[in-house]
Amino acid sequence: MTHTTSKDEMLTHIAKEVNLCKKCLLHQTRNIPLIGEGKSAVNIMIIGEAPGYYENQTGKAFIGKAGKILDQLLDHVHLSRKDVYITNVLKCHPPRNHDPKPDEIYACLDYLERQIKIIQPTIIMTLGRIASKTIFSKVSLPFSKICEMHGKTFNIKASYGQVKIFPQYHPATACYATTGNGNISMLDILKEDFEKTIGKVLN
Ligand code: URA
Ligand code: SF4
Repeated sequence: MTHTTSKDEMLTHIAKEVNLCKKCLLHQTRNIPLIGEGKSAVNIMIIGEAPGYYENQTGKAFIGKAGKILDQLLDHVHLSRKDVYITNVLKCHPPRNHDPKPDEIYACLDYLERQIKIIQPTIIMTLGRIASKTIFSKVSLPFSKICEMHGKTFNIKASYGQVKIFPQYHPATACYATTGNGNISMLDILKEDFEKTIGKVLN
């Protein structure tokens, strides 16, 4: 009898590796790694930065304040968590939420690349500067600044087919009130960006 390894089995294999991973120093301080969440059969992948405090306590994705914002944004384009696979560039929590360091990203990136190859998303949404910059560099697209690239669409050809990349501001930015431009909030900008990228493709 032949057996082809299913997407879920391959993701489970990655989870086992991550749980034992000591490729960077973050393994010393992590509690529970956050590997990823969602069905392997979806075609939308959302990539954040790294697990935060609460994610580190539970291994669950985006359960803090930024997660509440993400849920609002998904809802705004008629999506829910069951429609997407969510993961991060780093699988382990950086103490005091320090920005992921280049050596940490370098050590961890193989897991994310394998997750992408298994899920084969046609849409990749990167949340924030770090995730966007990391994915852009991986697909050899030039990256300037998140404030110049948010809400835009980038088409690339992956090994398995065409992919749309949507870099966005990190939802956590909507937790800190306004943009300085008086009446328009970060949440409004994020909603508009979601609408004109992923919303436009789906509706
Ligand atoms: N912020 C992220 O970038 N990822 C999470 O999983 C939670 C908060
Ligand atoms: Fe391994 Fe990534 Fe965790 Fe570092 S952050 S220990 S590379 S799983």
